[in-house]
Amino acid sequence: MSNITVTHSDSGLVRASVLRTERISPNFVRVTIGGEDFDRFRYLGFDQWFRLAIPVRESETLDRMPDRFGMGGFLRYLTVPKGVRPVVRNYTIRNFRQDSSEMDIDFVVHGTQGVAGPWAATVEPGFEVALIDQGCGWKQTEADRILLATDESGLPAVAGILRDLPANSKGTALIELFDSADQQELQAPEGVEVRWLERSPSENPGSTLMPELSRLDLTADHLAAFSVGESSIATGVRMFLVSERGVPKTNVIFSGYWKLGRATF
Ligand SMILES: Cc1cc2nc3c(=O)[nH]c(=O)nc-3n(C[C@H](O)[C@H](O)[C@H](O)COP(=O)(O)OP(=O)(O)OC[C@H]3O[C@@H](n4cnc5c(N)ncnc54)[C@H](O)[C@@H]3O)c2cc1C
Repeated sequence: MSNITVTHSDSGLVRASVLRTERISPNFVRVTIGGEDFDRFRYLGFDQWFRLAIPVRESETLDRMPDRFGMGGFLRYLTVPKGVRPVVRNYTIRNFRQDSSEMDIDFVVHGTQGVAGPWAATVEPGFEVALIDQGCGWKQTEADRILLATDESGLPAVAGILRDLPANSKGTALIELFDSADQQELQAPEGVEVRWLERSPSENPGSTLMPELSRLDLTADHLAAFSVGESSIATGVRMFLVSERGVPKTNVIFSGYWKLGRATF
């Protein structure tokens, strides 16, 4: 579930190839992609995200990918037979360098299940991908307090928001990881406290974050929240804020980034 507003930018289908990869922490691989198409890419910062097309099998081609991934584009994508259309997954821009036309993407490597995670763990330079920009989920507001809540899958998004928030922003970021060795050094406004939380790998996402959230002092005239990660975190945080703390629904941006035990599509 999600209430993120998707923007469909003019950059269309952007082709790129893998330049290098780096294991930045035990469970994260940073894949750097680049190419001439990035010359026409509009970087917005914050949690800007995109649809990443990965042709994992020889038979899969990028040639029949749509230019946009709204309802029409998605339906067109589905008309390309399985085995010919590439796998599409959602990812966040961790860093973008316009001068060298490079983009970093931080992948959670979550085992052998799925496509994108295992692909990132083993991909070699030269592999060709394509992406379709979908804009930012975070909306800059006049809020006097912000709350960001996520598990490891939303670490790139929360890191980007913290980096790009106005310097006088105030609030808290709750980032729950299943391995505290995946913590990163983050740039954040002085008034935003970053709390790293750790859950046991055998516990469900949110098991540490939700109790921590209920203990937070969230007093504010206008609280703006961003809650992403495993689906139960995204919806659980929203439900808590709305039902228990009286935060207007419209002040909570939420998106289930993945669902325990279920592949994307
Ligand atoms: C807007 C948006 C931005 C995102 N940005 C990022 C990002 O920058 N970095 C990132 O790593 N992820 C990000 N995600 C999440 C990512 O799209 C999902 O984790 C996706 O399911 C990965 O695809 P897959 O092919 O590896 O697994 P899938 O084929 O989708 O799923 C296969 C199995 O793996 C499990 N699984 C999927 N993801 C995870 C996970 N993170 N941890 C544990 N188990 C998992 C599923 O429950 C399923 O059982 C983002 C999602 C959204 C919607």
